[in-house]
Amino acid sequence: MKTLDSIDKLVEIISRLPSIGEKSALRLAIYLFNSEKEYLDEFAHTLQSLHQNIMLCKNCFALSEKEICPICENDKRDKSTICVTENYVDMLAIERTDEYNGLFHILGNLISPLKGIGISDIKLPELIERSKNSDIKEIIMAFAASLEADTTSSFIYRRLRDAGFTGEITRITYGLSLGSDIENADTRSLAKSISNRIEMS
Ligand SMILES: [Zn+2]
Repeated sequence: MKTLDSIDKLVEIISRLPSIGEKSALRLAIYLFNSEKEYLDEFAHTLQSLHQNIMLCKNCFALSEKEICPICENDKRDKSTICVTENYVDMLAIERTDEYNGLFHILGNLISPLKGIGISDIKLPELIERSKNSDIKEIIMAFAASLEADTTSSFIYRRLRDAGFTGEITRITYGLSLGSDIENADTRSLAKSISNRIEMS
């Protein structure tokens, strides 16, 4: 699809976003072209300042506006439990259930040899470090059901035990159907899969 160079560039940038094909990207590009200047200025400014205002929490790797995120900083959270998620969006989905009041740890990826994602691509050393704090009594694996999730959970389990973690290591149950992701799971099913979590061995 060849249009004008500046539109082509915009389409190319937009289509690099997840789940956006070239047709949708073109539609969005035309939408932006027809938008008010104020909106475009605000859009551009927000994008430009994204990295100035948002960073990863030094503890749990959630997006944060400060070095330590509001959840890690909150005294009312249960500091004896860490829920491990693949990404920030999954963490937010779990927050929405109101079923969990502990801490989080965001891995950033799941191990996937097929996609070339290995052990060094997940925030595991940092999780092991956190598990050495004697306050931590339980670590929950909260991944959607998939081969990658199984591989990652077992691997983390072994590493935590090797590092001497003696607390509980659990995983959420998959009341969620196979292949459904956490981000799109309905809140009730997700809450149930957290409360019905089972101990790993
Ligand atoms: Zn945090």
